[in-house]
Amino acid sequence: MPSEKAKENKNLIATCIACGKPVSTESMVSLRGREDSIAKSFSVCVACANNGWRPPGFAGVYAARPI
Ligand SMILES: [Zn+2]
Repeated sequence: MPSEKAKENKNLIATCIACGKPVSTESMVSLRGREDSIAKSFSVCVACANNGWRPPGFAGVYAARPI
């Protein structure tokens, strides 16, 4: 019997700002960058992050992780 929790998790879909595809939030990473001098978090899918996509003003370190 599926739990209510599992059903909720299926609905956690966000749009990758790099490729524009809807992605499960579990397959996304948040990268900190800057937009108009304001610190901001950018959510992208792991595939884009692994491909080298970085937000403007990115100053952190991203360690590639398995998709
Ligand atoms: Zn993407």
